[in-house]
Amino acid sequence: MEKIRIAIQKSGRLSEKSLNLLKEAGISLNNGSRKLRSVAQSFPLEVIYLRDDDIPQYVEDGVADIGIVGENEFAEKSCQVDLIERLGYSRCRLSIAVPKSETYGGLEDLEGKRIATSYPVILEKYLAEHGVSSDVHTLSGSVELAPSIGVADAVFDIVSSGSTLISNGLKEVEVVMKSEAVVIANRNLGEEVSALLNDLIFRIRSVLAASNNKYILLNAPNENLQKIIDVIPGMKSPTVMPLAEEGWSSVHSVLNEKTFWGVIDSLRELGAQGILVIPIEKMIV
Ligand code: ATP
Ligand code: MG
Repeated sequence: MEKIRIAIQKSGRLSEKSLNLLKEAGISLNNGSRKLRSVAQSFPLEVIYLRDDDIPQYVEDGVADIGIVGENEFAEKSCQVDLIERLGYSRCRLSIAVPKSETYGGLEDLEGKRIATSYPVILEKYLAEHGVSSDVHTLSGSVELAPSIGVADAVFDIVSSGSTLISNGLKEVEVVMKSEAVVIANRNLGEEVSALLNDLIFRIRSVLAASNNKYILLNAPNENLQKIIDVIPGMKSPTVMPLAEEGWSSVHSVLNEKTFWGVIDSLRELGAQGILVIPIEKMIV
């Protein structure tokens, strides 16, 4: 039987979360990230461990069928692969930053300036779109040091909290793109591998949906029952059961993380009591 080959970062910010996602999708690996490859036991899948920079090309070439990379690498390498799923972790942004002491009035201030980056393709495209021509210097690492040692006037780099920029005396002035981990796929997958991919993506979506949602149980006074039901968005509609105590009902539903606290506040205002929030293991969507 054929296997689907997935490329995962060998070691770095994507590795652990990506392996964990597979694990939650029911795919266990024989303790493998120290090796080049490992084969799953419970699913016809093989993991190939690579540097993240190499993953888009290996997927285009068909050495791996699919891969998990940062959207930034997908954009930078501009390979002939399809982005098939966003995974929501390893979120960061790619921004232009300049020395804190500089006044910055807009992109036109970067005309003719030297910008250091590890992402020249994304940067050149952005500058061209905005009609600015700068001198793009490609560095493979420690980009944030470039202005202080005098090799650049600005940088274009990954930012998450911004603390690296601040500690290097830089300020973020333009957010060029937002990134998260994504699944990319080769464009010419065979029938059998495509079917495995569909199965894998279905499992991944169930894991992601579960982690974005919580199961909620609460006791509602019957006089406010309808109002309480109205503030809970739910999967379909909430389950309502009478409590042994007259005048009260138990309400069960599912809440999305994004709306979670707002809904909880409204529920309390409506007199809901005994609110329990429980993690969901898998959610079949
Ligand atoms: P490799 O050795 O595989 O080339 P790398 O050093 O290029 O690794 P990492 O630093 O491990 O890459 O980052 C991998 C990806 O994680 C990045 O391409 C980006 O999408 C994301 N990422 C990078 N920095 C952060 C951060 N500070 N917070 C969140 N995500 C990040
Ligand atoms: Mg890399």
